Amino acid sequence: MNRREFLRTMGLGVIGLGFAPEILAGTSVNSPYEINTYPDDSLRDYIQKINHFNDPHREDVRVDSVQYRIFESVVMRLRRLQNLVGHGNFQILSFEKGLRVADRYSQVGEFTRAELRFMEIIFYEEGQRYGFMGQKPLKKITDTIRKNDVVKIPYSGNYLYRGEPCETYQTIKKELGEKVVMTSGVRGVMKQFLLFLNKTYKEGGNLSLASRSLAPPGYSFHGNGDFDVGQAGFGPLNFTERFTETEVFNRLESMGYLRLRYTKGNLLGVRFEPWHIKVAADV
Ligand SMILES: [Zn+2]
Repeated sequence: MNRREFLRTMGLGVIGLGFAPEILAGTSVNSPYEINTYPDDSLRDYIQKINHFNDPHREDVRVDSVQYRIFESVVMRLRRLQNLVGHGNFQILSFEKGLRVADRYSQVGEFTRAELRFMEIIFYEEGQRYGFMGQKPLKKITDTIRKNDVVKIPYSGNYLYRGEPCETYQTIKKELGEKVVMTSGVRGVMKQFLLFLNKTYKEGGNLSLASRSLAPPGYSFHGNGDFDVGQAGFGPLNFTERFTETEVFNRLESMGYLRLRYTKGNLLGVRFEPWHIKVAADV
C-alpha cells in the first residue's frame, strides 16, 4: 500500500476548515462586530470551534478503524517507554534512541513495522489536514536534542535550551521567585508523539480535536526553545484559561515578559495558551 492509499484508509483525506489560510491571515478576529459582519460563516465556525476546543466536530479527522489497534499499541508502547526511562529523560529522548531502548528492554518491547509506519505517517502528515495551521520547527522524525545544548531545571523534571530560553526563564524566576514554576520545557519528538497520541487516544482517535490543544509531533515549538510557566500550587489549572487570573500571569504581563505563541483569537487552529512563552524564532 502506498502512502496515499494508506492516508485514505486512515481517513486523513479531508481538511475540515473550509477556508483558505491566506484569507484568514489578513482578517482580524478581535472585534465581535467584524465577526458578525463577516460574509462567510466559516470564520465564525472556526472561532466557535477553537473556543470549545475539546468538543468533537463532524468534519474532524480521526484515526480510521482499520488502523485503530496499531494506533493503540503505539500509545501503550510509548507509555511503557516513558515509564522505563523516566519522565525527565523522556522529555529529550530522540526517536532513534527510543527505538533502541524499546528493542532492548522487554518491558517496552520492539516497535513493530506497522507501528513505525503509523508513526512515520503521523509525523510527516500535514498538520493542516487536522486543522492545525502552525509551523513545523522539527522537520525530520530523527531530529535530536543534544544533551550539551540543554540544561536541567532543578525540581521541575524539565530541560531548557541554553541561551535565550534559559536566560528568559532565569529573568522571570528572579522577578517572581518561588511563585513561578516551569510546567514544561524542551520536548523532543518522542515526548510530543506521546502527548499528541495520548490526547488523541483519550478522545477516541480524534486527531483534529487533539491538535486544537496539542501540536502534532514536529509542530511543537517546545522542540526548539519555547516553554510553559505556571503558578506554584495551581496544579492542572495552570493549563487552563484560569491561569490568567493568577498573580504570576498578571506580573508577567505587566513586566512585558508575556510573549505568547498562541494568543486569544489566533488563526492557527490552536486554543488560547496564556502559559506558553514564545522564545523560539518562527521558522
Ligand atoms: Zn507550551
